[in-house]
Amino acid sequence: MAISTINPTTGRIEAEFAAHDAAETSRRITESAAAFAALGETCFDERAEWMRAAASLLEAESEATARLLTSEMGKPISQARAEVLKCARALRFYADNASTFLADEPVADPAIVAAQRAVVTYRPLGVILAVMPWNFPLWQAIRFAAPALMAGNTALLKHSSNVPQTALYLDALFERSGFPSGSFRVLFIGAGDVESVIRDARVKAVTLTGSEGAGRAVAAIAGSEVKKSVIELGGSDPFIVMPSADVEAASSIAVKARFSNTGQSCVCAKRFIVHTDIYDEFTRLFVEKTRALNVGDPMDESVEIGPLATEQTREDIAALVDDAIAKGASLLAGGHRPDLPGWFYEPTVLSDLTDDMRIVTEESFGPVASLYRVNDLDEAITIANQTEFGLSSSVWTNDAADEAAFISRIEAGAVFVNGMTVSFPELPFGGIKNSGYGRELGRHGIREFTNVKTVWKG
Ligand code: NDP
Repeated sequence: MAISTINPTTGRIEAEFAAHDAAETSRRITESAAAFAALGETCFDERAEWMRAAASLLEAESEATARLLTSEMGKPISQARAEVLKCARALRFYADNASTFLADEPVADPAIVAAQRAVVTYRPLGVILAVMPWNFPLWQAIRFAAPALMAGNTALLKHSSNVPQTALYLDALFERSGFPSGSFRVLFIGAGDVESVIRDARVKAVTLTGSEGAGRAVAAIAGSEVKKSVIELGGSDPFIVMPSADVEAASSIAVKARFSNTGQSCVCAKRFIVHTDIYDEFTRLFVEKTRALNVGDPMDESVEIGPLATEQTREDIAALVDDAIAKGASLLAGGHRPDLPGWFYEPTVLSDLTDDMRIVTEESFGPVASLYRVNDLDEAITIANQTEFGLSSSVWTNDAADEAAFISRIEAGAVFVNGMTVSFPELPFGGIKNSGYGRELGRHGIREFTNVKTVWKG
């Protein structure tokens, strides 16, 4: 795949870059390893100061950076701006908290382990490779980089081939903010070149966010090298609405949960599982609000649905919808490519789904919602769990017993009650089942790429 910016709103190539050859890739790994040695000489306070400088740069440059994201992958400009500012917040969060999260932990009574002193310490691992996707091109990279750098690791970023200018912006950002040169380096390489980087002895671990296929490939290579990996893949998150819920509020948030980022998020709600008592009311409201979404040029402040990021993404989502309709699904909204240049697809709602339809088991990575009618809590949980994925979930209820049952029985890395799934720098994020393993963000995220070193002194 060419490393290029193709504006999804126009379909035009705006920038092209030559891939790094093996020698340049190796040179960059060397730079990263040297920077790791340099970072080893620094303390939390110095790194925190540079992190805060990076946050200030992002805030000062939020307008231009937001426009860059929108031009590379088509997200509505207001959402791009929010992404940039969220990144600044994550940088500050780790600047403020890394030293606490990674502080030495003395064992309360060392005598129990026959020691004078017994301490758990968290040490950096070295050069970490990040393979990242295009859907949140800044956020996905920052949520890895902020904890990794604060822990004292260095980062190599292999970004999606369609967001090279965002990658270059990140490459410069950390150096401009004071980190030793090479602490964060971009590799312009194709997916096929990732294997040799993982196998390079100078690279100690790898993290990937993306599709299941990419995750399996990277995890297998890392496993064969006995290198640590964190894998964050897709989701088919349920959004369950029970009769005790505020149906009006649930329907508004449902639209946001499904269609933000034009539906291209691993934690977008994808399957709406609604109790029969309120199904008709919820469906009417949800369809009405979906039809009202403003589709158009993502640089326009009022636009809520931009183009899909790549032509392939649009073809994939259209194929899922066509397959469901051919097998008898009801089309309640959308279902077509609007008459616009670029890779637009209408916000779409499907119901009357049956198990032979691909959309029931596959992730719909675009603006398409699936509706399911259920008779009770058990049926809702069964449908919620009948997926290979287990990333997050959203449940709407004001019944304490229902709430407790959902929290304990839904198979996912998170349950959001009366709200949509959102990632916060403060909370761990990640999945189970085919959604991957390991956690990003929070205290748990920063510890993933550390050596939990036991120190015992007799
Ligand atoms: P991919 O998983 O193909 O791409 C994500 C990243 O992985 C990119 O940097 C890509 O590089 C790289 N990559 C792809 N295949 C391999 C491989 N075998 N070994 C090493 N690296 C690899 O996602 P797509 O962009 O193709 O999107 C396809 C689907 O992936 C979506 O429809 C969605 O289901 C899922 N996805 C999930 C995301 C999430 O947030 N969990 C984000 C994006 C996509 P390159 O760009 O050079 O191919």
